[in-house]
Amino acid sequence: MMTHAPSHNDTLSPLGIVQAKIAKAAKTAGRKPEDIELIAISKLHPAEAALPLIAEGQRVFGENRVQEALEKWPALIKETPDIRLHCVGQLQSNKAKTAVELFDAIHSVDRPSLIEALARAMDTLDKRPECFIQVNIGEEEQKGGCDIADTKAILKQCRDAGIPIIGLMSVPPLEVEPAPYFALTVKMAHDLGLPAVSIGMSADYELAITLGATHIRVGTALFGHRA
Ligand SMILES: *Cc1c(COP(=O)(O)O)cnc(C)c1O
Repeated sequence: MMTHAPSHNDTLSPLGIVQAKIAKAAKTAGRKPEDIELIAISKLHPAEAALPLIAEGQRVFGENRVQEALEKWPALIKETPDIRLHCVGQLQSNKAKTAVELFDAIHSVDRPSLIEALARAMDTLDKRPECFIQVNIGEEEQKGGCDIADTKAILKQCRDAGIPIIGLMSVPPLEVEPAPYFALTVKMAHDLGLPAVSIGMSADYELAITLGATHIRVGTALFGHRA
């Protein structure tokens, strides 16, 4: 009878599996795993779902709605003050102040009215979360993000308003090969002199890493399917 040692994945947690895949993709691309920030996207999962990840050492989490983040995270952050929270969803201007108060990074800066509201909130609170400009990389009608052609002007407007932009964020169209959209986002960030690129989700974060992602936003692979 043949016996064999259990594979790694038999004993690893979901976080351990994702970390191992990040390390492998980084190695393939000749990059260092520590240059890739894993943002655990906990949206639509209860606060308790984050506890095992926090216990395993994960400190960077993301939400896509301000109200939900406000209900879940202040208590968790009180327990574990070095948690850093990222806003990855479309942001309404009237939530800008709450968002600046709550989040350490905002990935969805995409239009003049929001830039004005964020700049006002940052001045009032004297707090400047690191921000990404979201680009509508597939030029989709209903999608958040600025037009590709407007990105440079949006960046200038952010800088003039004192909003610290560190990179670009994009979400490719559903159900098409994402590689060309990831590659274009990386090229645009490079051409604009921006160091950070927020691309890649559960289905494609390894690909995103090989193409240059510095921030990956992973929900389902860590928390399971959302209701
Ligand atoms: C929900 C969400 C994610 C995570 O998606 P998964 O496929 O569950 O990993 C990433 N980015 C954004 C903007 C999201 O809204």
